[in-house]
Amino acid sequence: MKEFDREKLNKELDEESIWDILIIGGGATGLGIATDAASRGLKTLLIEQEDFAKGTSSRSTKLVHGGVRYLAQGNISLVKEALKERGLLLHNAPHLTKNESIIIPCYSWISGIFYATGLAFYDWLSGRLSFGKSKIISKKEVGKRLPTLKKKSLRCGVLYHDGTFDDARLALNLAQTSVENGGVALNYCKVVSLIKAENNQVTGAKVLDKETGIVYQIKAKTVVNATGVFVDDIIKMDNAGSKSLIRPSQGIHLVLDSSFLKSKDAIMIPHTEDGRVLFAIPWYDKVLIGTTDTPLNNHSLEPRALETEIDFVLKTAGKYLAQQPDRKDVLSVYAGLRPLAATGDSNEKTKEISRSHKIIISESGLISVIGGKWTTYRKMAEDTLSKMIKRKMLPNKKCITANLKIHGYSAKISNGPLSFYGSDKIRIDELITSDKSLAEPLNNETNIIAAQVIWAVRNEMARTVEDFLARRTRVLFTDAKLAIKLAPKVAELMMKELKRDELWKENQVQSFSQLANGYLLKSDLNSVENDFIKTESM
Ligand SMILES: Cc1cc2nc3c(=O)[nH]c(=O)nc-3n(C[C@H](O)[C@H](O)[C@H](O)COP(=O)(O)OP(=O)(O)OC[C@H]3O[C@@H](n4cnc5c(N)ncnc54)[C@H](O)[C@@H]3O)c2cc1C
Repeated sequence: MKEFDREKLNKELDEESIWDILIIGGGATGLGIATDAASRGLKTLLIEQEDFAKGTSSRSTKLVHGGVRYLAQGNISLVKEALKERGLLLHNAPHLTKNESIIIPCYSWISGIFYATGLAFYDWLSGRLSFGKSKIISKKEVGKRLPTLKKKSLRCGVLYHDGTFDDARLALNLAQTSVENGGVALNYCKVVSLIKAENNQVTGAKVLDKETGIVYQIKAKTVVNATGVFVDDIIKMDNAGSKSLIRPSQGIHLVLDSSFLKSKDAIMIPHTEDGRVLFAIPWYDKVLIGTTDTPLNNHSLEPRALETEIDFVLKTAGKYLAQQPDRKDVLSVYAGLRPLAATGDSNEKTKEISRSHKIIISESGLISVIGGKWTTYRKMAEDTLSKMIKRKMLPNKKCITANLKIHGYSAKISNGPLSFYGSDKIRIDELITSDKSLAEPLNNETNIIAAQVIWAVRNEMARTVEDFLARRTRVLFTDAKLAIKLAPKVAELMMKELKRDELWKENQVQSFSQLANGYLLKSDLNSVENDFIKTESM
C-alpha cells in the first residue's frame, strides 16, 4: 500500500504520466471525488493549494445531518439523500462520526406537536439507517437534560437524533483513503493555470509546488474543479468571460466553555428572531454555537466574523441560556464560506438557496462541482463520476464507496483523547512505547501529547504548525489562546522532524500566532470590519 508521505507522493508528479482524473481542491468535494475515483481504479491526482480542508471544510457546524431546516423548506429529496449518507458515514467512519441527541425547546404545545410530527417524518425518511426515534419530552425532562437552558415559558421539548463529526479529520482521512487506493493527494500545490489543446479542450494544468517553487505541467484526461468558493477563479482560467456560478455565504461559530451547556445533548433553536436556525453543540470538550448566513461579494481562505454576526449569536444564545455568554467567554470564533450555487437573483436570501449540488461541464470539458454539503460529499462524488462516465469521459467502473471503510475505521472505538485516530491509535501508542518522553502533554493545559505532533508529520502530511493546531488537532477552533501558547512547542518538535532550521521555527510561531489572533474576539466593539465585505440587510 502507498504511504501517505508528501515527498514520496510528490515524485509521482512527473510530466510524462497521463492521469485519468485531476481534481483541483482538497476539501470535502474534491477529496470525496478523489476517494471515489481512486477506489474505482482510475489514475487519480488531487491538488490542494494549502492544506486539506483549509477552506470551508474545516469550518462547518460539524453536523452530519439530513437537515431539519431543509425539511421545513420542503426539500424532501435532499433530506432523504442526506439521511442515507449520514447512515453510511457512521458505518464507514465511526471513529469520527457520532450519534448526537438534539433537543428543540418548545414554548407552546402547538410548536411541540409541530416539531414532533416533522421529526417523526424525518426518522421515517432515514429508514433502516435511522439514528434513533424522536420523541416529545416533558419540561421536567428537558430541564434534567439541559440544566443550563432557561425554563421560563418552556412547555416541553422534542428530542431527535443526528450526527456530529470532525470535519477536518474526515478530510484528512479521505485523502489517506484515496492514496491507499492508489491515488495521489498533495497539499501545498496550487493549480496556477489550465492547459488546453488546440481544440480548446482542457488537457491538464500547471501545478506549482509551493514548497519547492517547481511548476509541473500535469497531463490529464479529465479535470475536475472542486474548489468550493474558488470555483469561479478556475472557471475564469478556462474562459475569462464566464458568469459567476458561486454566491458565497458566510456562517460563523462561537466556541464556549462546556459549562455553558453542561450536557451531552445539543440544543436546536429552529426559528431565531430573524428566521435562522441556531445550534449549541457539544464538540470535543467545548460548545459550538452557530451559525449565521451572510451573503458576501468576495471570498478568502481566512474569512473573518463580522461584528454584527458575533452580536447576533451572543444575543440569541443569551435568550436561551441561563448564563448569558459574553464576548470575554468566547474561546474561539471561526467563519466559513458556503459555496452556494448562484441563482442569478441577487435579491434571493442565501438561507433560501438550495444546498443541493450542481455538476457543470464546460465546453472545454472542465467539470465544476458546486454547492452541496459535507454530509453528502460521497453522493456528490458518485454523481460527478457517473456523469463523466455517461459522457464517456471516463471508462465505466463501478462506484464502491457506499461500503468503503475510511482510513482510521475501527469496529471498536475506544474512549479517550486519542479516539479520533481510530485504528491509528495503536500506532501512536507504539510511538510512545519506543520513546516515553512522547507521552508528555504539550503543556499543563492540554492533553495533546508530543507523539501526536510526530505522528502528524510522519503520517498525516502536516507541514506547518497551523496544519497541526488547526486541522490534525482542533485546538485553534476550540481555544485560540491555548493554540497560541502551544505553537512554540509544536514548532520545536516539527522543526526537528521536518529537518528545518531555527528561522523556520520562528517564522512558524509568528505566522501562526498572527493567524490565531484572528480567532480571538477583539474587545474593541468598533473594530473595523473587512471593507470588501458587504452584508445584506440582516
Ligand atoms: C458555516 C458553515 C456551516 C456548515 N455546516 C455544515 C454542517 O454542519 N454539515 C454539513 O453537511 N455541511 C455543512 N456546511 C457545508 C460544507 O461545509 C461545505 O459544503 C463543504 O465543506 C464544501 O467543501 P468544498 O470542498 O466544496 O469546498 P472547500 O472546503 O472550500 O474546498 C475547496 C478547496 O479548494 C482549494 N483550492 C482553491 N483554489 C485552488 C487552486 N487553484 N489549486 C488548488 N487548490 C485550490 C482551497 O484551498 C480549498 O481547500 C457548512 C458550511 C458553512 C460555511
